[in-house]
Amino acid sequence: MFSKILVANRGEIALRVIRAAREMGIQTVAVHSTADSDAMHVRMADESVCIGPPSSTQSYLSIPAIIAACEITGAEAIHPGYGFLSENANFVQVIEDHGLTFIGPTAEHIRVMGDKITAKDTMKKLGVPCVPGSDGGVTSLEEAKRIGEEIGYPVIIKATAGGGGKGMKVAQTAKDMEKAFQTARAEGKSNFGNDEVYIEKYLTTPRHIEIQVFGDGKGNAVHLGERDCSLQRRHQKVFEEAPGPSITEEERARIGKVCADAVANINYIGAGTIEFLYENGEFYFIEMNTRLQVEHPVTEAIFGVDLVREQIRVAEGLPMSFTQDDLQINGHAIEVRINAEKLPNFSPCPGKITQYHAPGGLGVRMDSALYDGYSIPPFYDSLIGKLIVHGRDRPEALARLDRALGELIVDGVDTTVPLFHALLAEEDIQSGGYNIHWLEHWLETNLGDG
Ligand code: ADP
Repeated sequence: MFSKILVANRGEIALRVIRAAREMGIQTVAVHSTADSDAMHVRMADESVCIGPPSSTQSYLSIPAIIAACEITGAEAIHPGYGFLSENANFVQVIEDHGLTFIGPTAEHIRVMGDKITAKDTMKKLGVPCVPGSDGGVTSLEEAKRIGEEIGYPVIIKATAGGGGKGMKVAQTAKDMEKAFQTARAEGKSNFGNDEVYIEKYLTTPRHIEIQVFGDGKGNAVHLGERDCSLQRRHQKVFEEAPGPSITEEERARIGKVCADAVANINYIGAGTIEFLYENGEFYFIEMNTRLQVEHPVTEAIFGVDLVREQIRVAEGLPMSFTQDDLQINGHAIEVRINAEKLPNFSPCPGKITQYHAPGGLGVRMDSALYDGYSIPPFYDSLIGKLIVHGRDRPEALARLDRALGELIVDGVDTTVPLFHALLAEEDIQSGGYNIHWLEHWLETNLGDG
């Protein structure tokens, strides 16, 4: 059993990990930049170490500083949260070289899934359905055009190293191919230092459905159903729910088993998410995230499990505490991401919180690192909280979300809360009848955002 772990992150996800560790009787070490000396994760951890100046590259992304913090405090394992170093294979390697444990998958699995071409190839071989497209990388415009004709327009050109919606361009017709191909390559090169691209059929009205998987690293794995994360702005999720309103029990069981078998096959360890586009009853793999997702609480709510506790257990070599048969869905959960951003343009809005009151009551969970008088620094992500509600069914969860949003008070900065009030008034949100383009259209029509 670990006696002390270090949390290599900040904000709500650092609190999330500290809370799980505390319930397991494990001591925690927070790391922080000079801009975060007063942050909640520093206050909540048993110990803290300042690891550098505000810039993330010199603090939360500094591998030597984080390893040094482990050595100073005697922490035996590192939980990376999401973002920052959570999908950095080199970080995992360095941790292992220092005789420490990474709470997450192996460097090799992170590497394979971090490259979209290799990831797709691996998944295809494991029997996971993929979007039709090129077999691997496409290096010339002629080849790109030939593939476009073969699979039929529209197509999407994607940088193999891409992420966060960057390095993806759609070609509606053959005429757009040259520009889309060159731009995707250039974005891949400038953002990720890799200009390799591949081509996929562009699905016009899919939903984003992702399957939560969990493995013990010894060939056992389970799935925890799906989350529908179709409501996105610029490929960033803003509202997530589980189970997916469009997915049947039979579909869940089928795709869930395909995913659990795939990760069992590669001896995957820890939490992972296999992302699909879903259209006309078919699932198409797009990528796998080898970490805890921001939206994991909706899955925790409907299955009644603690995914972080489970991550820590398997990292210690313990078995998972549930089997596939133990995992039964109970009710419906929704998460909304509350950002310190000013509508209608979603411009970041850091600053001092003059008043904060978190909603409560039955079925309400607020994961946030805010407190009265806290100053949101301008250096990091604008996510300031996640409101998660759980109800017996979808209508109850929606009503509860509306009620909880009404109780929430965040004064001093602008937030995205008004967006969610407005969305809840929409028939398509109430009925669950949306796809990945719905929110962008809505924002354009209602806020002039585009
Ligand atoms: P990233 O790693 O940048 O998040 P993904 O491959 O996960 O990229 O894709 C992000 C989003 O881009 C998807 O949720 C979807 O909205 C859109 N997308 C990706 N591939 C396709 C496709 N083949 N057809 C239609 N939309 C796509």
